[in-house]
Amino acid sequence: MKNENCIFCKLANGEIPTATLYEDEDFRVILDANPASKGHALILPKEHYENLYELSDELAAKILVLAKKMIIKLTDVLECDGYNVVQNNGEIAGQTVFHFHMHLIPRYKGDHVGLGWNKTELTDEDKDDILSRI
Ligand code: 5GP
Ligand code: ZN
Repeated sequence: MKNENCIFCKLANGEIPTATLYEDEDFRVILDANPASKGHALILPKEHYENLYELSDELAAKILVLAKKMIIKLTDVLECDGYNVVQNNGEIAGQTVFHFHMHLIPRYKGDHVGLGWNKTELTDEDKDDILSRI
């Protein structure tokens, strides 16, 4: 299902032209309009799903296979030194467009891409709590 008010539905389905790296019946892979680094791309499903939780297992599996193929090809094309594959779910996690997308962010030696988090120590309390409830 498409969502009339969703910009990524329009981009994914070609209603708004965009720089497309790859397309098949399920997905379009486009260049991010505000890239973290040269070649930053987004995998968009053509159907509207707000986030990862809404994807079917089948589509979710296809996305990782596609991500793998894209970063292998793009590593060759861009001559980058590594990749971050990032996928945000929910505003608190940094999601700003509420149509599922996966970021493919090429990394170059010496770049200043600001991904990361402050590391803490796993406490016994948290560990016991989580393991007792999973
Ligand atoms: P999020 O923060 O939701 O994980 O990522 C949204 C991404 O979509 C951002 O990196 C942003 O630059 C990109 N983006 C937002 N609007 C457009 C657009 O109209 N075209 C393209 N190509 N990228 C967009
Ligand atoms: Zn959408």
